Amino acid sequence: MKPSATARDIDAVLKIIETIGLRPHAMPGATRTAIGITGNQGPIDGRRFENLPGVAEVIRVTKPYKLITLDLRPEKTIVQIDDATIGGSEFAIIAGPCAIESREQAFAVAEAVKLSGARFFRGCVWKPRTSPYTFQGLGEKAWEIMTAIRNEFGLKIVTEAVEESHVHLIEKYGDVIQIGARNMQNFSLLKRAGRSRLPVLLKRGMAATLEEWLLAAEYIMAEGNYNVILCERGVRTFAQHTRNTLDLASVPAIRRISHLPVIVDPSHGTGTAYMVTPLARAGTAVGADGLMIEVHNQPELALSDSAQALTLSQYAQLIEEVHAIHQLTASVS
Ligand code: PEP
Ligand code: MN
Repeated sequence: MKPSATARDIDAVLKIIETIGLRPHAMPGATRTAIGITGNQGPIDGRRFENLPGVAEVIRVTKPYKLITLDLRPEKTIVQIDDATIGGSEFAIIAGPCAIESREQAFAVAEAVKLSGARFFRGCVWKPRTSPYTFQGLGEKAWEIMTAIRNEFGLKIVTEAVEESHVHLIEKYGDVIQIGARNMQNFSLLKRAGRSRLPVLLKRGMAATLEEWLLAAEYIMAEGNYNVILCERGVRTFAQHTRNTLDLASVPAIRRISHLPVIVDPSHGTGTAYMVTPLARAGTAVGADGLMIEVHNQPELALSDSAQALTLSQYAQLIEEVHAIHQLTASVS
C-alpha cells in the first residue's frame, strides 16, 4: 500500500481478498503496510487490485515462501515482547539452563542471567530427549518456578512446546514459544503456534535445508502469527569434533531472503562448553540478532546437556565480550 493509504483503503483491500476466498496478511511497516495473500492454488490475477485506492503496486512472489520474504516486507521484523525486542538495535540474549531442575538451580541461574543484562530466561519445562530413559523435564511443576522467576527478575520466559497441548500453558505462563529442532517439521504444532498471540522461536531442524526451515516459518505465519524468530543451532554433518555443525553462513543467507530476525545457539551448535564462547563471538560478528546460551550453576550436575553448559562466570564473561563485538558489528554494517 502507498504510505498515504488510509486504514479504510487497507480494510477495503483485505475485504476483497477475503471475498475471493483467499487469506490476507496485513503487515504494517515503518512507512507502509504490505498485504500478503495466501490460499491461492496457482497464480491469481493481481491486476484487480491495481486500481484500488491506496494500492502502490502488486508484486507477484514466485518463490515457495511468501510471507517471510523481503519481497513482501523490505524492512526487518522487530519482535516486541513487552518492553524487550528481538531484531531491533538491542542484541537479544536468551540464557538459562537446558532444563528447569529445581527452584534452587533455576533461581541461581536466573540471578546471573538478570545480572548480565539479558532480558530472556530459557529453560525447558518439557525436554524432548533423544532417549526415553533420560530426564524428561519437571513438566507442569516447573511453571511455579518459572512464574516466580518472571515475577522476581522481570525476565521474559522462553520455553519449548514439545507438543500442541503445551502451547496453551506457555500462553498462560510464558512469553515466547520455542519450537525445537526435532519438531521443526511438526506441521500441526507449527500451525498451533501460528494461531498463538505469542512470538515463536523456531529452531532449525538438525537436517533441514534453509528452504525447509523458512517454509516451517511460513507455516506459522500463514496462520496469522508474524512474530517469528529463527534460531540457527547447527546441523548434522560428518564432523565428530562437535555435536552439530553450527552453520553461521545461514545468518547472512537468511538476511538476503527474509525480514525475520535470526539468532544463534552456540550451545546446541557445538555441544561442548569450551567451544561455546568462540562460536558465540563468531555468531555475533556474523550479524545475528542475538544468542541463545545454556548456563548452569553446577554444570557437572546438570540433568541434561551438562557438557555444553557454561559456568556462571564463563557466562558473564561471554556476555561482556559479545556486547563489545555487537557494538563493533553494528557500527560497520
Ligand atoms: C533446547 O534449546 O533446549 C533444545 C532442545 O535445543 P534443540 O531443539 O536445538 O536441540
Ligand atoms: Mn539443551
